Amino acid sequence: MLYDESLFHYLAETDPEIMEAMQGELDRQQGQLEMIASENFASKAVLAALSNPMQNKYAEGYPKKRYYGGCTYVDMAEHLARERAKELFGAEHANVQPHSGTQANISAYLAFIQPGDKIMGMSLSHGGHLSHGHPVNFSGMFFEVAHYEVDRQTRQLDYDALEKQVLAEKPKLLVAGASAYPRIIDFPRLREICDRVGAVLMVDIAHIAGLVAAGIHPSPVPYADVVTSTTHKTLRGPRGGLILCPERFAKAVDKFNFPGTQGGPFMHVIAAKAVCFKEAMTEEFKAYQRQIVANARKLAAVLMESGFDVVSGGTDTHLFLVDLSGRSLTGKVAEKALEKAGITVNKNTVPFDEQSPFVTSGIRVGTPALTTRGMKEPEMEEVGTLMVKVLEHIEDDAVIAEVREATSDLARRFPLYE
Ligand code: PLP
Repeated sequence: MLYDESLFHYLAETDPEIMEAMQGELDRQQGQLEMIASENFASKAVLAALSNPMQNKYAEGYPKKRYYGGCTYVDMAEHLARERAKELFGAEHANVQPHSGTQANISAYLAFIQPGDKIMGMSLSHGGHLSHGHPVNFSGMFFEVAHYEVDRQTRQLDYDALEKQVLAEKPKLLVAGASAYPRIIDFPRLREICDRVGAVLMVDIAHIAGLVAAGIHPSPVPYADVVTSTTHKTLRGPRGGLILCPERFAKAVDKFNFPGTQGGPFMHVIAAKAVCFKEAMTEEFKAYQRQIVANARKLAAVLMESGFDVVSGGTDTHLFLVDLSGRSLTGKVAEKALEKAGITVNKNTVPFDEQSPFVTSGIRVGTPALTTRGMKEPEMEEVGTLMVKVLEHIEDDAVIAEVREATSDLARRFPLYE
């Protein structure tokens, strides 16, 4: 019965207020251009798996080693998720239980180092993530932290400078990966650098996991001691985390995820992760990831042709940063105006930003969600032109209203969840 009828029928009856909020959010997602680099639209199959009765099940432990009875079917789901994650990323071991990317990072750190040890991660304002040692995050509270930055001229990683800093700081663990870095990361070089001081190499591929799975960004798996990820960004699965590692570290990683830092796993989410990994093994997914990068490059080119400063002069990935400081614009103002025009991006610090994180001098722009809707280079030309129009007429309500009509029309031409 449950599997034959729309679950939403039951929800509408029980809780019309929540149904109304859900309908509003669906309309919002359908009716505007989603360009937040960390967001995507999961498939209907993933959404279906997320609303399944496995959510009712307690399953502390791991498949075949649970602290609860009745785990036959959730074991099937977790086994499939683990095996598919291993195959997809060519990893010896996968832990699919982390509730989020941050949670995966907590478990990964603790599997290798002790509170008080020194870590090195990319500074948040240069593209890193809060969980890479920011003082307001557990990682900055529990560990001693040294941050690395991008080069002032190229606004890209300078591996020679990084090596010098690592030799001077001697961290126990180096965390690579970022939330707002548009260039390929050189994992073999990072391995060499870590080996010079005996540091653990942890790579957080939360943003680029889809690109890595599709072979478009080089994989860190052969080089890293541990790889962490989210499953909901370019990978286009349910919200959640993932840890990959060589078999020799499997026990420690598993132990520090459960019982170390989590309780019962979200079995419905794990089922949805399994679906996502299966989808990610298809040729269609590889073509989708290639298109994400082609779209990001095209869009960055349109903005650069109009004189905008794209950090590092372009992108190799699904995202890029626009530095607005030369135009006396802030990220905060740009984000607001673009949202009014039906284009959702987020304000973002740019390297060497002089504005606060609440204001910022930049915006981060990503193409995974629009690419899921089927948009290609010609649409990126349109979107880029519309963005330029807004950014050049930031206070002109008539122009913004005109762009809003154009973005609604574009959204209608590329329907979502129909
Ligand atoms: N790591 C990186 C590089 C990220 O960009 C993010 C999220 O933006 C995370 C970790 C954290 O993921 P979550 O929001 O699932 O905790």
